[in-house]
Amino acid sequence: MATTISLEQEINPWEAQAARFDYAARKLNLEDGLWKVLRQPSREIIVHFPVQMDDGRFEVFTGYRVQHSQARGPGKGGIRYAPDVTLDEVRALASWMTWKCAVVNIPFGGAKGGVICDPKTMSQGELERVTRRYTAEIIDFIGPEKDVPAPDLGTNEQTMAWIMDTYSMHMRQTVTSVVTGKPLSIGGSRGRREATGRGVRKVCDEALRFLEMPREGCRVILQGFGNVGSNAARLMMEAGYKIIGIAEYDGGLFNRDGIDIHALAEHRLRNGTILDFRGAEAADPDELLTTECEVLIPAAMENVITSRNADRIKARIVAEGANGPTTAVADDILAEKRIFVIPDILANAGGVTASYFEWVQDRQGYFWKEDTVNERLEAILADSFEDVVRYAEAHAVNNRIAAYMLAMDRVAFAIKQRGIYA
Ligand code: NAD
Repeated sequence: MATTISLEQEINPWEAQAARFDYAARKLNLEDGLWKVLRQPSREIIVHFPVQMDDGRFEVFTGYRVQHSQARGPGKGGIRYAPDVTLDEVRALASWMTWKCAVVNIPFGGAKGGVICDPKTMSQGELERVTRRYTAEIIDFIGPEKDVPAPDLGTNEQTMAWIMDTYSMHMRQTVTSVVTGKPLSIGGSRGRREATGRGVRKVCDEALRFLEMPREGCRVILQGFGNVGSNAARLMMEAGYKIIGIAEYDGGLFNRDGIDIHALAEHRLRNGTILDFRGAEAADPDELLTTECEVLIPAAMENVITSRNADRIKARIVAEGANGPTTAVADDILAEKRIFVIPDILANAGGVTASYFEWVQDRQGYFWKEDTVNERLEAILADSFEDVVRYAEAHAVNNRIAAYMLAMDRVAFAIKQRGIYA
């Protein structure tokens, strides 16, 4: 797949997505018409809307909602608040959602949203007004049967509560199933908060079984100790893995005998950082990525494994907790090194799977026990892992391309069965 491209092209999320898509489409012998249909998002909404700031000024914000495909069900995907959100990024993330939902075979299409703003510098009141007005601007295009948003970077349970309330006010009735990732008291699901980390642990268990490697003492290094990374680390430590390294944006930790994740979580809660934790030595976060271990889990952000460091990765397994942590060029390097990659659209699909459960529970008006959520989640991820590795074997491709091919096959089949409305 590798061609000579600049680093800028290599890390452009839309290019990264398109490179995998084109390659998988060729392998799949996808017919030309379906290739064209699936390569582009079906709808892109751009809104510019005014919000009154705390000091009385009016500010105009730009928001996006991109719906890549609704062939298999309503759109599904988070809303990101960040100063550098771009349409290309939202497009890429929307199409990733289509493939992710199809890999785990849940009845959703793919969508994603974003607002260009810096939530770190805004008050709660400003964030609430941005959220309500953005929701009002896109209200015709979202809904339980149309497109169901969820949190992403810079948004959280509170943001979802405001969206749910705004939508409900317009509909003149409470509609909890319009968003997922809500607080438990207003239709959230038990187990949702740690679902992505739980899914990461589950696919790692499956990979060890597949590769016939022992779990006890299996060395793990994570990048990112946020929602995904901290939950994955805790659940994996509890299951017998040895977490030897954690990289954060402001520094890293290393302990060859294993880091006590419960103690580290308490330390972070008290101090607001993982640094100066007594149970590990300080380490360079970039070097941690290339330190020897059995499992490396990038769980922070995009483009951390690139042509610049992929040849130095010494893990046996890379489990992508984050979205898009590996570039397409780096993929080829990891494949040459025979590193077993569990691609993002499978490895971090626990979050959207639990979101699907939340949507089902809201529509049923009947809420499940946490054990039920966890059991069903793990069963879906185990089945999906099996589907992907079997597909990889059958088609002699790596796991990422297999996951794309499997997903594209499912979406293309749905489009064919529905036929093209004219
Ligand atoms: P988060 O904000 O809770 O955590 C991210 C963590 O990464 C933070 O602790 C942050 O300090 C750290 N970080 C930021 N930049 C870093 C850097 N340069 N080096 C090391 N650490 C850095 O976010 P999250 O919800 O855990 O999401 C992490 C990734 O997982 C994102 O790519 C997100 O899209 C993806 N993801 C999240 C979910 C979910 O349910 N939360 C689901 C699927 C995918």
